[in-house]
Amino acid sequence: MAHANENFAHLQAGYLFPEVAKRIRAWSERNPGEKVLRLSIGNTTEAIPPSLARAMKDKIDALSKSDTYTGYGDEQGDICLREALRSHYMNEYGVTLPSDAFFISDGAKSDAANIQSIFSSSSVIAVQDPAYPVYVDSNVAGGHTGLYDRESECYGGIIYMKSDESNGFVASPPESHADIIYLCFPNNPTGAVATRDQLRTFVDYAHREKAIIIFDAAYCDYIQSAGIPRSIYEIEGAEECAIEINSFSKNAGFTGVRLGWTIVPHNLITQDEDRSLLHRFWNRRQTTFFNGACNIAQAGGIAALTEQGRKECMQLVSYYKENAAIIKEAAASIGLTCFGGVDSPYVWTKCPDGLSSWDFFSLLLEKAHVAVTPGSGFGPAGEGFVRISAYGHREDIEEAAASLKENL
Ligand code: PLP
Repeated sequence: MAHANENFAHLQAGYLFPEVAKRIRAWSERNPGEKVLRLSIGNTTEAIPPSLARAMKDKIDALSKSDTYTGYGDEQGDICLREALRSHYMNEYGVTLPSDAFFISDGAKSDAANIQSIFSSSSVIAVQDPAYPVYVDSNVAGGHTGLYDRESECYGGIIYMKSDESNGFVASPPESHADIIYLCFPNNPTGAVATRDQLRTFVDYAHREKAIIIFDAAYCDYIQSAGIPRSIYEIEGAEECAIEINSFSKNAGFTGVRLGWTIVPHNLITQDEDRSLLHRFWNRRQTTFFNGACNIAQAGGIAALTEQGRKECMQLVSYYKENAAIIKEAAASIGLTCFGGVDSPYVWTKCPDGLSSWDFFSLLLEKAHVAVTPGSGFGPAGEGFVRISAYGHREDIEEAAASLKENL
């Protein structure tokens, strides 16, 4: 008799973004003809940079002729793209990693969700609170956690590293032992970045505890503040205790194209004697469960890492960052307290008058027709905040900013 995996039943009500979409839909049905200014999800809106689009068109042309057609590629990714990433890390971050430490994927979300499968199910997980929901949910579905507690709004067995105003939204490492620590900088949802010293405390902790850091750097190109690391491997010793996940979604507009990568170094220190185990297990995982990223997307990824491609991608990033500045200025001008939005596309905004995240979400929708994401959906410490996203056409961002100023 078949049984469904009971771990999935432990996941709490609807994943955050479908729930936001449901409530916006319901509002639109109640208010026919009214435009919703969507600053809710982190979905890109602008065109793919021209040299990347050209490279993908060329790849389609090559695939359409039998003498240049190619079928399955390496599950780990096109060696040209892995090589290009290796050079990129060396040139931009001064980091030396072998190209076979780079595993190309269909995006950071799948990798962030799947990475837990190569660790023991008895692993103690630590997450930033608030955090991108995938880290917690994938560990719940993978059976690495206890049950959800309604009172605390936390899962048993997970260490929540509270990130709030008192620590500038950058938590310190846990006081107790953790085996796997998820970090995301620039952070989704708070927009916070970590300094070199702050990251070093995590690397030191990981060495002390023989723990592994899963570092999600999906927004690293948004960092403009001087001296802020863009890769965890800029911290000495991180190649022995950190796995880094990244994406072409937010700098190349590949949210729909789908392309990302994960770096699993060869010499990660765990309780196991064999330092290459995690690299081998991720290789085994990818070659068994995945048949390689789309070859058209990978051609675009290679173009994104050329000098011209980087220039175009950074122009795209600048566009979204200008959007973030417009939103932040508007929110601050009506007396809202805002964080982030400088090294990040997200403006983390405090709910006024003690309103809850969902109440402020509803108020913004009702009064300004602006849709945001309630902070409580990212974890209990997100309560009392909303995340305003800078992904949108400039005219829509300006309309939303004007509406906030006029109607709130
Ligand atoms: N990691 C973080 C922190 C994100 O915010 C997102 C998307 O919003 C992702 C990963 C997903 O990236 P991808 O589109 O590559 O799956």
